[in-house]
Amino acid sequence: MRVVWTVVGFLGGGIVGLVLVLPRLRFLRPRRVLACDLCQRRHRRLLVAMVLLAALSVTGFGLRASQKARELPACVADVSISEGRRVIDPQVPRRGSLRSTVRSVLTAPVSGLALAFAEVRGRGLCSVGDPPITLAFVPQSKDHPGSMVGEVFLSSPTPRINPVRAAMLARHESRHVDQWAVCSTIGGIGLLPVAYLVDSTVYPGSENHFEQSAGLDAGGYAPPPHPPVGPRPWAVAFWVAVVLVIGRRRIRWAVRTLVRRHSTHAPDRCPVHTPGWT
Ligand SMILES: [Zn+2]
Ligand SMILES: [Zn+2]
Repeated sequence: MRVVWTVVGFLGGGIVGLVLVLPRLRFLRPRRVLACDLCQRRHRRLLVAMVLLAALSVTGFGLRASQKARELPACVADVSISEGRRVIDPQVPRRGSLRSTVRSVLTAPVSGLALAFAEVRGRGLCSVGDPPITLAFVPQSKDHPGSMVGEVFLSSPTPRINPVRAAMLARHESRHVDQWAVCSTIGGIGLLPVAYLVDSTVYPGSENHFEQSAGLDAGGYAPPPHPPVGPRPWAVAFWVAVVLVIGRRRIRWAVRTLVRRHSTHAPDRCPVHTPGWT
């Protein structure tokens, strides 16, 4: 059973998922936490969330694997990135390197989910770049060139761009695939969207760290403004408030422990779930 939960934890939440799921099942879990019904309830909720996330990952992985089974045509860079039509170039891309295989596997769950979306809304797939990324044409808002989801670039039909620009863009998006691979390993399929959201609220536009590390110029971003806009105070205040709300019980425990000079708990509760600030 422990093996099952290890797999579920990793598929659902990456390394963070493992840390969240495993200590509670094993020796690190203190007895008084087992006796605390609020901890039990929280743990059950966490397991349900992990199972749902893991199921989503496995579904995505399956979809990606079944799509990988049929070879994609190579994108004709100047045509395919620019126009939302099916690419029927007969040229088959050569086999990827070990690095590209590893990141394909790591990003497969989220790539598969993107493909499922493209299947419903999109108009054709092709493969571009080295290591390759998959291009899916999905009509999106007009001024948005596209989004990288795992290894799949959901691209809207945009005005024609030249091969050099297309190659630069492919390189930029390929860096985003690396980011997806790293984030998915650390925190599962949900980490990158959350991290990107937090970063883009605190550091907007060209100051976004994910875009900076992918290359602003190649991605079609303007240079960061002087003086910089970020960190934006309201965004920092908002996310600090979110952390305080999430960690309020631990803060309560820390305050009470400081006041009483030792950790205390009610008979049927763990210290964190024991009410009272002093
Ligand atoms: Zn508790
Ligand atoms: Zn980008």
